[in-house]
Amino acid sequence: MEATLTFLGSGTSMGVPTLGCICAVCALACTPGNPNRRTRPSVLVTYGGHNVLIDTGPDFHAQAIREGVQHVDAVLYTHGHADHVLGMDDLRPLSFHQPGGLPLYADDATATIMERIFEYTFRKVDRYPTSARVNLQRVSTEPGTCVDLFGVSFVRVPVSHGRTTISGYRFGGAAYLTDLSDLPPESLPLLSGLDILILDALRREPHPTHSHLAKSIELVHQLSPKRAFFTHISHDLEHDAVNAELPPHVRLAHDGLKLSFDIVPKIEVSA
Ligand SMILES: [Zn+2]
Ligand SMILES: [Zn+2]
Ligand SMILES: [Zn+2]
Repeated sequence: MEATLTFLGSGTSMGVPTLGCICAVCALACTPGNPNRRTRPSVLVTYGGHNVLIDTGPDFHAQAIREGVQHVDAVLYTHGHADHVLGMDDLRPLSFHQPGGLPLYADDATATIMERIFEYTFRKVDRYPTSARVNLQRVSTEPGTCVDLFGVSFVRVPVSHGRTTISGYRFGGAAYLTDLSDLPPESLPLLSGLDILILDALRREPHPTHSHLAKSIELVHQLSPKRAFFTHISHDLEHDAVNAELPPHVRLAHDGLKLSFDIVPKIEVSA
């Protein structure tokens, strides 16, 4: 089944331009439409008329308007950092008509953070009447966990993000691994035979909680997908200059980039 993945945002937590910065990349990013303008990271996966989001960052409202997102059927969360969850409240108008609530999927640590941030939404009594009608479901962190959405398995891929382990997802021929500093050995078999690998590449210098350019290139060589796209990018990487350095099958993502791929139902993955 044909699917489209859209980068709603490709930037790091501070976004590009970064507030208060006068560097050359931030100056380029001040021009609307410039590929160095990077909003906070998330992707939209569309197949069979369904829209599945991975994360809702603080720029979700503007991203959804830009991409003409009229409905959302489910959201998978990677972890509870602000740049990945703060847009949850913008799901409100898209959630009101959903019987049983718009389903959100998060591991226990992420769900606990979301319940604290959006206490007025998730409280059991005296809920704020027009808060988002969402149904937050906990995803197990046991190996081989899948979330089945509209005939497609989203396989949870454990990802090291500094000293914490967060959720990446594989769906058909694609995998989305944001906020990755390393891959635990048990995740490697979940990432074989990929068409599209999307992973974190923050900057040129190493960083304690994010992969850097050289390490991400090394991971691409190790996993050998047909195509790879880097995301969660800071103002350290100028779009055209870095793309000119990369092999042709490896590119920096940019906001609004759309990729077509095969999202086969019920993939078989050996954990
Ligand atoms: Zn992040
Ligand atoms: Zn800058
Ligand atoms: Zn993070």
